[in-house]
Amino acid sequence: MTKIPHRFYLTEDQMPTQWYNLRADMKEQPEPLLNPATGEPVEEKDLYPIFCEKLAHQEMDKETRYVDIPEEILDMYKIYRPSPLCRAYNLEKALGTPAKIYYKFEGNNTSGSHKLNSAIAQAYYAKEQGLTSLTTETGAGQWGTALSEACAYFGLPLDIFMVKVSYEQKPFRKAVMQVFDGNVIPSPSTTTQVGKKILADNPNTTGSLGCAISEAVEKAVSTPGCRYVLGSVLNQVLLHQSIIGLESKKAMEILGEYPDVVVGCAGGGSNLGGLIAPFMQDKLLGKKNTRFVAVEPASCPSFTRGKYAYDFCDTGKITPLAKMYTLGSGFIPSANHAGGLRYHGMSPILSKLYHDGYMEAVSYEQTKVFEAAVQFAKCETILPAPESAHAIRGAIDEALKCKESGEAKTILFGLTGTGYFDMKAYSEYLAGNMTDYIPTDADLQRGFDTLPKINK
Ligand SMILES: *Cc1c(COP(=O)(O)O)cnc(C)c1O
Repeated sequence: MTKIPHRFYLTEDQMPTQWYNLRADMKEQPEPLLNPATGEPVEEKDLYPIFCEKLAHQEMDKETRYVDIPEEILDMYKIYRPSPLCRAYNLEKALGTPAKIYYKFEGNNTSGSHKLNSAIAQAYYAKEQGLTSLTTETGAGQWGTALSEACAYFGLPLDIFMVKVSYEQKPFRKAVMQVFDGNVIPSPSTTTQVGKKILADNPNTTGSLGCAISEAVEKAVSTPGCRYVLGSVLNQVLLHQSIIGLESKKAMEILGEYPDVVVGCAGGGSNLGGLIAPFMQDKLLGKKNTRFVAVEPASCPSFTRGKYAYDFCDTGKITPLAKMYTLGSGFIPSANHAGGLRYHGMSPILSKLYHDGYMEAVSYEQTKVFEAAVQFAKCETILPAPESAHAIRGAIDEALKCKESGEAKTILFGLTGTGYFDMKAYSEYLAGNMTDYIPTDADLQRGFDTLPKINK
């Protein structure tokens, strides 16, 4: 074999044309979604008011192993996919590790993250069903940007409720969404009843994600032909993100490689679930014994300090209850810089796998994460998103363990996106002004107190 290139791309005819549904190979299934009002398992049609029908079907489908990706979605994927599988030669050298480090880079599109992979699918199915608009919320802005791009492509109007403090602090994010015709509304706003009420009670509020979600949901349920969409956590989102893992596995196969360890950052679990899916399949079928490591912020430690319990997927409390590792939907994480990882819960699929011992999890404080981000940027010439830098930190520490033990393991990690809109965080880190915050047990208890009564 000739030397493996720094960046390896599949050819168009090597690209996957199906998504992989990990649930089809899980002997132990995640617990069913429950209707919060009755406590009974939900059926597919119960989801129709919330999700469009094809997505509701994907949400519930635990049998279909491979799902054909519609032609229209493949056409848009081909604009920015395949994403490269990169060999981090320079980072390996800088660390002095015998390990081989690979990463799958999902930042090569304007949204700057993997979120576009699911946004395209969600916008396509909504359009196909004849829906006439979508709403969503965005905190840091990545999901709103990805969904704007997808909605512009399929010609679907989109309202994005953006937390007011982010709207003011990240004007460039807002401008990108506007380029793609996204209607960006600072939340709380006067366009909804709930927004008006919050503003009347507290005119100077800078908003919150919970409030933005409530506004997006109110807008969706009060507008005919409109639905509210989510960018992570759900089974359907993990299905769409399996494209990351499928491309990675295929590329590694061609290069004659297979990972011993797969590392990814975990907010709601969509990139990690997508990256590990086909490798986890081999583990579930007893073919391989790969280790899987989820990396989360110490300030929002769903896996490492959360409870495995039924909870709402959204702070607005309209989605069904899912059994997952959660800090409670009322948990308010401190204002760390990895906005995409500030989520209370975790994918039910990953939660089940973690609970059953198929996965590990670690957490890091943000200064340790930015230290890894800067080291990586210098070696690999990619400025990582703070979220992605959690995976870098995890991968570097795995590689350093190999240095100690002398083992030449193959490490694969997910580099979910770029950090150009996070320069304030980098500036703070470089100026030595970044602080770490780890919630106390009492802080976490306040979140657990908001878990629904169904857990008894
Ligand atoms: C949203 C986001 C994440 C976290 O979301 P997951 O659903 O856990 O994958 C990670 N990285 C980036 C760049 C993001 O935008």
